[in-house]
Amino acid sequence: MKFLTYLFSLFFISCTGPTYDIIIKNGQISDGTGAKLFPGDIYIKGGKIIQIGQIKRAVAEKILDASGLIVAPGFIDMHTHSERRSLDFPPVENYLQQGVTTMVGGNCGGSPFPIGEFIDKTEKMGIGPNLALLVGHNTVRREVMGTENRLATEKELNQMRALVQSAMDDGAFGMSTGLKYIPGAYSNTEEVIALASIVSKNGGFYATHMREEGIGLLESTEEAINIGRQANLPVQISHHKAVGKSMWGNSSKTLELVNKARSEGIDVTADQYPYTATSTTLKVVFPAWSLSGGREALKKRLDDPVQREKIKDDIVWNIVYDRGGGDPASIVVANYPPNTEYNGMNLAEITQENGYDPTPENAAEILMNLVYEGDGSGIYHCLNEDDVQQIMTHPQVMHASDGSTIQFGRAQPHPRNYGTYPKVLGKYVRELGLLSIEEAIRKMSSLPASVLGITDRGKIKKEFWADLVIFDPNTIIDNATWKDPHQYPTGISWVIVNGAISIDHRIWTEKLSGEVLIHTP
Ligand SMILES: [Zn+2]
Repeated sequence: MKFLTYLFSLFFISCTGPTYDIIIKNGQISDGTGAKLFPGDIYIKGGKIIQIGQIKRAVAEKILDASGLIVAPGFIDMHTHSERRSLDFPPVENYLQQGVTTMVGGNCGGSPFPIGEFIDKTEKMGIGPNLALLVGHNTVRREVMGTENRLATEKELNQMRALVQSAMDDGAFGMSTGLKYIPGAYSNTEEVIALASIVSKNGGFYATHMREEGIGLLESTEEAINIGRQANLPVQISHHKAVGKSMWGNSSKTLELVNKARSEGIDVTADQYPYTATSTTLKVVFPAWSLSGGREALKKRLDDPVQREKIKDDIVWNIVYDRGGGDPASIVVANYPPNTEYNGMNLAEITQENGYDPTPENAAEILMNLVYEGDGSGIYHCLNEDDVQQIMTHPQVMHASDGSTIQFGRAQPHPRNYGTYPKVLGKYVRELGLLSIEEAIRKMSSLPASVLGITDRGKIKKEFWADLVIFDPNTIIDNATWKDPHQYPTGISWVIVNGAISIDHRIWTEKLSGEVLIHTP
């Protein structure tokens, strides 16, 4: 009887062949390296890609028919702030829905701290996409020095070095700076080099929101490259752009600097979101000195007529020449908790509603009043499409969102939070033909993976983790707009994270199969 059972099972195996969790059939594979599309089936088991090609009589719990669709590595978003609210909204659905399977958090100088604690909490809670973290320079500096407007002493620098080391020990992939923000704006280049040297010793990289992205952009790019040279580590220029009309066109010069640095052997790369507006705090147009010491100190300065006038002068300058794009109408309130009726209104409209002509001076007064009452975020229409396209086509520039975890339907966030990747594939690849689909996918997968030093994600390859996105190249498109941002994209059939289907035709499957990725030197 035993022998008969044995014979029967042999017969069964020879009839059915090997068993998998998922087989993706009939798709065109774009493997993430930039190589031409090729047909092939993908066999997944235990979270990993087991085989690519065709296996006879293979069976699986689930077979996905990808006829007419492209199968690509899941997108790796090099630049997000998604960790800020991922514990509140663990699926991070606005990322999953656009095909992002790995998010890099802790950017622009701000990260959770200690990182180890945050990782533990995230692992307990679960998360939709994978998450990799950077340690933030501003976070570390605030831990040691608060928001004091001065250089660090040697003792403080040593304390910061120790904190950066502990974050690297906890699994950070590198360090980010936000030299435009407080308190990073009070640091000098030497401080950043000293801390980046710790990251370098641990095999990490340096991501930077540079000191200036408008007037001062070229000097800031040189500073970033110099930090890479002195500290001997790769440099990632975050959300690269040229802010303000007077700087439009300067991306050709910054990219030239990048090329020159690369020819010297400094590993400089950049990321970019495909939009002509930025989004950040409403305080970004305030002078850095006015923000030292926190909210109460700022309110005191705004109460003092002499200091208020100085702050106003700087805000007017920023509206006219820099982030304000030349006109208060270019600044739109994204989220203002003290008065949510302002969400979606521009600063010219708000100024008029308060009974004033929308001049930059009056708008600056209104903005100071808003910030006096509470913090908020804005969208700044201050970029130029030619720069966006020029930066996008540089081979070392990857697509990224600079977005956050979004609560669906709430406030008026930047559409990049929902649409970055489908917009690149629909508008820039299909409609404009600016990039080939294989090249765009490379910039969404293996390029960011190589900067992170991740060797088992970012490509469709045997033994790699099965992080995949399956989409229709003829229909994929973003739907999020400035006026109506809370819209998921169309054209994505499935998103798979670590071998589990997370998105099935725009429906989240309630799987939290993401992992926190840990950097090992
Ligand atoms: Zn930033």
